[in-house]
Amino acid sequence: MELFKKIKQITHLMKNIDFAELGEISEKIDLPKIMKSVGELDDVQLKGLMKMLTEKAKKGQHKLPPIDGDFYDYDLKLTQEQREIQLKVRSFMETEIQPIANHYWNKAEFPMDIIPKLAALNICGVTYDGYGCPNMPFLMEGIIAEELARVDVSISTFFGVHSGLAMGSIYLCGSEEQKQEWLPKMQKMEAIGAFGLTEPNVGSGVAGGMETTCEKVGDEWVLNGQKKWIGNATFADVIIIWARDIEDNQAKGFLLRKGNPDYKAEKIENKMALRTVQNALITLTDCKIPESDRLQKANSFKDTAKVLRMTRAGVAWQALGCARGAYESALKYTKKREQFGKPIAKFQLIQNHLVEMLANLTAMKAMVYRLSELQDQGLLTDEHASLAKVFCSMRTRDVVSRAREVMGGNGILLEYDVARFVADAEAIYSYEGTKEINSLIVGRAITGYSAFV
Ligand SMILES: Cc1cc2nc3c(=O)[nH]c(=O)nc-3n(C[C@H](O)[C@H](O)[C@H](O)COP(=O)(O)OP(=O)(O)OC[C@H]3O[C@@H](n4cnc5c(N)ncnc54)[C@H](O)[C@@H]3O)c2cc1C
Repeated sequence: MELFKKIKQITHLMKNIDFAELGEISEKIDLPKIMKSVGELDDVQLKGLMKMLTEKAKKGQHKLPPIDGDFYDYDLKLTQEQREIQLKVRSFMETEIQPIANHYWNKAEFPMDIIPKLAALNICGVTYDGYGCPNMPFLMEGIIAEELARVDVSISTFFGVHSGLAMGSIYLCGSEEQKQEWLPKMQKMEAIGAFGLTEPNVGSGVAGGMETTCEKVGDEWVLNGQKKWIGNATFADVIIIWARDIEDNQAKGFLLRKGNPDYKAEKIENKMALRTVQNALITLTDCKIPESDRLQKANSFKDTAKVLRMTRAGVAWQALGCARGAYESALKYTKKREQFGKPIAKFQLIQNHLVEMLANLTAMKAMVYRLSELQDQGLLTDEHASLAKVFCSMRTRDVVSRAREVMGGNGILLEYDVARFVADAEAIYSYEGTKEINSLIVGRAITGYSAFV
C-alpha cells in the first residue's frame, strides 16, 4: 500500500515536469543521481518536494515572451499573400541556410547547391512585370531582403546582386530582345547575374571617373579596364559591365557572357565580411562584345543611377535584417546565459542594451516601410533611398555591436552567429554608396548646395 501511494505521488510529480526543460537541465546536473535520491525520500519529504515543484510549475506558467524583432507588428500590415511569402522565405532560411551559414562563411565558399532551392521560392525579380516575374510591390522585395539578411547577409547579398542589380539593369536598360533572352531564365535562377561598376581606382567617384573604356569597332565593342568587388562574378552566367565610351565620354552597359575569352575574374581573398559572397576582380583585355549585347537603353550614368536608386532601398532593408538577426540571437542568448545565479536578461544594464537595439530596429522598420510605400507610389527619389541607406547602416552597426557586447566572449565566436552579423554589417555600411556619399546626396537635396568635390 505504501509503495502504491509512493508511485501515485511520483506519477503526479512527473506530470509537472516539462521534458524539454528536463533535457536542458540534464546537461547541467547528474539526473540519475537525483532520481535515486528522490526514490530514497520518505513520505513527508516527498510531499514537501511535490509542494515546492507544484508552486514552481505554477510560476512557470508565466511563459517568457516569444523572440520577435517586429515589436510594432508591421507584419499585420501585410496582405495574406505577402505574409505567406514572408513565412516561406523565413522557413527556408531557418531550415536550409541557418545550419550551414557559418560553415560556408568560414570557408569563404558559396553553397552552390542552394540555388535551385532558392529558385523554387519564386522570389527573383519579384517587382518586375512580365518575363515570368511576379510583379509584386516593392514592399515585398524589402520584406524578402529583410528575411534573407536576418539569417545570412551573404545570401541576401548574393540574391540582391542577382535579382536587383543584374536583373534590374536588364529590366530597366535592356531592349525587349535582351529582356526576353535573360529575364525568364534569371527569374528561375537558371542563369546567375553579376553587376560590375566599381573599379580598383574608382569607387565613390565612379559616376564621373570611370577608367574602364569601351570603343565601337565595326559591329562590336572593345572593352579595356578592371572592375573590383564584383559579387557572384566568379561563377555568373552574365556580368553587367559599365564602361565609359571614349567617343562621347558617357557610361554604357554591356552583357558580358560567361566564357568570353577576353576577360578573367579572380576571386578576392581574405575578406573579413560577407565571406560567403564570391567577389571578384575582373580584368578586361581588348574584350570584344557584340553590339547586340550592349544594353540598348543605357546611354549615360543617369541610366546606371536608375538601377542603383531601385536597389539602394533594398540595401536599407537588408541592414534592418542584419540588425534583427543579431538582436534576436542576442535576446535569446541573454535569456539562457546565467551569471550570478540568474539569466543575464534579468540585469538592468543588459535590458538597456536590448531596448536600445529594439528601438533602433523599430525606427529602421518604420523608415524602410515608408520608403517602399514611396517606391510603390512612384515617388521615390535618390535622396529618399540615400537617407534610409545612411540611417539604417549606421543603426545596424550600433545594434550588432550591442548584440556582441551582451554576449561577452561568445559574441566573437562564429558559432553564436552574432560575430558574423558584426562583420557583415561593415560591408553593408560601405557598399551601394558609403555613408559619406549618401549623406552628400541628402545634403544636396535639403540645402540646395552640392558639397561633392
Ligand atoms: C563586400 C562588397 C561587395 C561589393 N559588391 C559590389 C558589386 O557587386 N558590384 C560593384 O560594382 N561594386 C561592389 N562593391 C563596391 C562598393 O560599391 C564600393 O566599395 C563603394 O562604392 C565604395 O567605394 P570604395 O570602396 O572604392 O571606397 P572609396 O570611394 O575609395 O572611399 C573611401 C572613403 O572615402 C570617402 N569618400 C569618397 N569620396 C568622398 C567625398 N567626396 N567626400 C567625403 N568622403 C568621401 C568614402 O565615403 C570612404 O569613406 C562592393 C563592395 C564590398 C565591400
